[in-house]
Amino acid sequence: MSHPYRLRLPGPTTVPARVRQALAKPVVNHRGPEFSAVVKEIETGLQRLMGTANQVLLFAASGTGVMEASLANTLGPDDKALFISNGQFAERFATIAKSLGLQADSIDVPWGETVDPNVLSERLSKTDYQAVVAVHNESSTGAVADLATIGGIVRETSALLIVDSVSGLGGIDMQQDRWGVDILVSASQKALMCPPGLGLVSLSDKAWHVVDGETPRARFYWDFQKARDNAVNCQTAFTPAVSLGFGLCEALRMIAEEGLSNVLTRHERLAAALQAGGGALGLPVFPTSPIRSNTVTVLQVPEGRDSGTVVRHLYEHYGTVIAGARNKLNGTVIRFGTMGSVDESDIILDLTYLERTLCDLGWSVEQGTALKAAKEALGAT
Ligand code: PLP
Repeated sequence: MSHPYRLRLPGPTTVPARVRQALAKPVVNHRGPEFSAVVKEIETGLQRLMGTANQVLLFAASGTGVMEASLANTLGPDDKALFISNGQFAERFATIAKSLGLQADSIDVPWGETVDPNVLSERLSKTDYQAVVAVHNESSTGAVADLATIGGIVRETSALLIVDSVSGLGGIDMQQDRWGVDILVSASQKALMCPPGLGLVSLSDKAWHVVDGETPRARFYWDFQKARDNAVNCQTAFTPAVSLGFGLCEALRMIAEEGLSNVLTRHERLAAALQAGGGALGLPVFPTSPIRSNTVTVLQVPEGRDSGTVVRHLYEHYGTVIAGARNKLNGTVIRFGTMGSVDESDIILDLTYLERTLCDLGWSVEQGTALKAAKEALGAT
């Protein structure tokens, strides 16, 4: 392959050089003052991104691990959770619940859309749920949940609002405390510019009240109480992923130096440019939800075309690794990460190679229109 490897997935994402250097630091005593200072700095940095004053818990895990932990710490077999199901990761969350023996109901929303708040209110008025579970940024479709509205509804009930922001945190706005998110889970390998391997959690007082209740819970590694008891001393309950901690600390410094609001605006501009360019190539944005993702751009391929061919060709001929879909959207969409360490030149190259790919594959595209549309979008903001 003549082109350099370009990681343009919706996670894991490119790890910038500064973070890679931090990852290469010598491992230190995970219970010593050096690493405690790192844990403290991570907590402060994440609190800013999460919009919370809550304690932040760190686990050596991928995002799925902390999704499971959020359920294992708050729900038992007699409890019922309501899953807002509008994509692959929402489905995964409900599957985890079922595998833990929990009662999982769902509001089934067409993929690419988001829940109608009236439907959510109605479901909560009819059944006493202990939790409502939502995905903030559904990476399989690019739909973003209106958490301010969902949180406002759930706050009026005794249910906890559990939210997966694995692919949102650090790339799109999150206001955990203001929106009433009771448990927020995320992971290191997306907008946070780190390798996979760190699961991040923060809990509201309402959630801690449930975790601290009398009900016995089947948990050991995932025990949030043990995690909190250690977190107050800037430690983790079990051996942490020390090197990833160094990396995340550096990534959070980079975000702070750029300024969180500038980081969020950069994500918005770049996603808008990629989406404009995709549209000009005849690949419209997939989600129809009122809020579309700035971290994952999901483009539809025309009927009768196979998106897998585009994904393969981009990799084999242009070194550009993007995602298709291995779910009910199989063959119909392509997905780019527009999060973390990305800039305008990434988007320009994405569209240049996408246009060449479509030409190579014999699709009829008007050359130059994608870059023109992208540059207009970039110029407009
Ligand atoms: N939730 C969302 C929205 C995701 O995008 C992903 C991963 O792509 C996950 C959950 C699962 O996270 P992990 O792959 O880190 O287990």
